Amino acid sequence: MRGSIHLARIAGIDLYLHSTWFLVLLYELSGGAGRYSSQWWVLYEVLALFAIVTLHEFGHALACRQVGGIANKIMLWPFGGIAFVDVPPRPGATLWTIAAGPLVNVALVPVLAFLPAPASPDAIQLLRAVNYINLGLLVFNILPVYPLDGGQILHALLWYPLGRARSLLATTVVGLLGVAGLFFAAWRLDDLWLAAITVFILMYCWSGLKFARALARRELSAAASLPTADRTFPAADAPPPAPARPLLK
Ligand SMILES: [Zn+2]
Repeated sequence: MRGSIHLARIAGIDLYLHSTWFLVLLYELSGGAGRYSSQWWVLYEVLALFAIVTLHEFGHALACRQVGGIANKIMLWPFGGIAFVDVPPRPGATLWTIAAGPLVNVALVPVLAFLPAPASPDAIQLLRAVNYINLGLLVFNILPVYPLDGGQILHALLWYPLGRARSLLATTVVGLLGVAGLFFAAWRLDDLWLAAITVFILMYCWSGLKFARALARRELSAAASLPTADRTFPAADAPPPAPARPLLK
């Protein structure tokens, strides 16, 4: 948790804010001036983003606990949030832990829709922005690009027919194709931010692929009926920081 500030402990879960997050705040404050009559509204918008990401992460963390996993840390950083979840290695537990995050955004859609219509143009603009942020988070995160939520949901669904290792292998290969698509989109949209997020996704997707191969080797050795003492399998690659799986927002 180096370089981060402890903000609160809610339901036994420590909430941290990475110091680089203030760069987002500065960036937003410098760029959002035209949309509102004062900078205060830009600050409210950033705080709304912060709140929505936090709720999404709590969705993951509480669902993880519900299925018997460990979740006691959430960190918010410029690319979104990370719920540090240690999920029991079962497809159902993984599926519920991952799906609970986007479901929070789904639940927020009617909540935001039934808020009373604001009177001032600033408040109308803020509500519009909050709706956009909520839907944007939902749509981006359910892309089937590992380790985004959609990729992890795909992994959990394929886990049932294929087993853990092969499903992760298939998912990370799909993820790498998705990474190529995201880089293409970042180039076409000239979006440096999307490109930076995609680099981060690529790193985790690649370590997921290596972990899947290590898992597959372990399953092979476990399946062998002969004593394995004289069999040497290549040493498993270091697993990704799996308990600290990133849940991008
Ligand atoms: Zn998520």
